Amino acid sequence: MSRYLLRCRECGTVWELRVSYSLKDFQQLYHYCSVCGKNTFHDIVRNESAEVHDIIGNR
Ligand SMILES: [Zn+2]
Repeated sequence: MSRYLLRCRECGTVWELRVSYSLKDFQQLYHYCSVCGKNTFHDIVRNESAEVHDIIGNR
């Protein structure tokens, strides 16, 4: 299990993605943003000091 911080390019929300595969070869990811309510492009953030809104863990 790997953890990545993704930043939505449309709303700017940074959130944590937990996946079982490596994203290190990716610079962007097309993924569902629960804030936008649709699939958007995300930048993969490697700075661990970035503010994280853990919108996944609040279910
Ligand atoms: Zn968004």
